[in-house]
Amino acid sequence: MHDHTICVQHPEAPMAGYASLTTPTHRASTIVFDSAAAYAARKDRGPDGYTYGLSGTPTTKVLERQISDLHRGSHTVIVPSGQAAIAMIMLAVLKPGDRVLIPDTVYPPTRALCRNYLAARGIDHVIYDPVGPIDDLLDSRTRLVWIESPGSTTMEVQDVAAIVQACHARNILVGCDNTWATPLLFKPLLHGVDFAVEALTKYIGGHSDLLLGSITVRDKDHFALLRETMSTLGIGVSPDECSLALRGIETMAVRLRHVGAVAQGFAERLSDPQAGYTVLHPALPGAAGHEIWKRDFEGASGVFSVAFPAQAATRLDESLQGLALFAIGASWGGTHSLLAPMSVENDRHFGPYGKSLLLRVSIGLEDEAELWQELQRVVSLLDSPAE
Ligand SMILES: *Cc1c(COP(=O)(O)O)cnc(C)c1O
Repeated sequence: MHDHTICVQHPEAPMAGYASLTTPTHRASTIVFDSAAAYAARKDRGPDGYTYGLSGTPTTKVLERQISDLHRGSHTVIVPSGQAAIAMIMLAVLKPGDRVLIPDTVYPPTRALCRNYLAARGIDHVIYDPVGPIDDLLDSRTRLVWIESPGSTTMEVQDVAAIVQACHARNILVGCDNTWATPLLFKPLLHGVDFAVEALTKYIGGHSDLLLGSITVRDKDHFALLRETMSTLGIGVSPDECSLALRGIETMAVRLRHVGAVAQGFAERLSDPQAGYTVLHPALPGAAGHEIWKRDFEGASGVFSVAFPAQAATRLDESLQGLALFAIGASWGGTHSLLAPMSVENDRHFGPYGKSLLLRVSIGLEDEAELWQELQRVVSLLDSPAE
């Protein structure tokens, strides 16, 4: 089935053994059993069976199956947020003495997880150049290499297949944060990645009203490990959140196609070699990883950035005053267009944007011409010093 069809047709959830004390939307803490013997043997149902509400109800399982199908994976787990998905993989896979590699352009809370939490527990991390060679950084301690492509805010596209090849030759696992692309535009598992993460909060939820994350795998043992880690830590999700995500996913393909086209058009129109700023969008020739994006991706989503010289920060407040359409805020991927002024100054080791004022743009579903008018005004105010 085509991805667009998969999005609209919810698969059937397995109902065997599911006898909840509640009525649909399938909410349950308690799962009841036919007999004392069935109850005693409940662990035999395995990581995919119904034994307790924490590991999901049929509602959760429909969403899991749908995301697995989009990723061409075997299993998915749903967790309370995108950040929880990243943390769950690292907590499940890494042990004291292990090392994880994260790209310099990683989602900042992932860097904070490594720096502030894992380091204190004997797990160290190395920050690598997302568009540089990786082989020399892989040693016997390295257990996991993290990918995020395009990178947060500065949009560098990584060579996933090359990283996977280098890692798998050394028995190192690879995880990929695929939130920008969604499984409609890129399928990390088909390029060899072991763990594909989505912040469902963004394009799958699609309406800025829920928080969820997913992890999709090919390997059953990885699935069992994730389920076990989740139940040990007491992590589960509400079927109500899942049912919102199930509604959002139905329209994701048309939303994404629309915002992708509008965002790319804006990025192209803003690009101007005479301007004092640089537009960061993987579809622009010359963008970091542009050729890889053309090779690997089905298209672009609705998020890109514009990098201004640091002194533009003095004009920021004035330039973002009186916006009628764009809201100022983070967590993109909804129906409302957003602008987020960002600095990566305290984070970056590589690349030219360490000192830049970065304006991250997320395109929503408002009228294209009205959005263009407002965006063009903001960019020109930031670009030219006020008289
Ligand atoms: C938003 C985001 C996350 C985290 O998702 P939450 O659900 O907000 O925790 C992770 N990775 C990327 C690339 C994101 O944009």
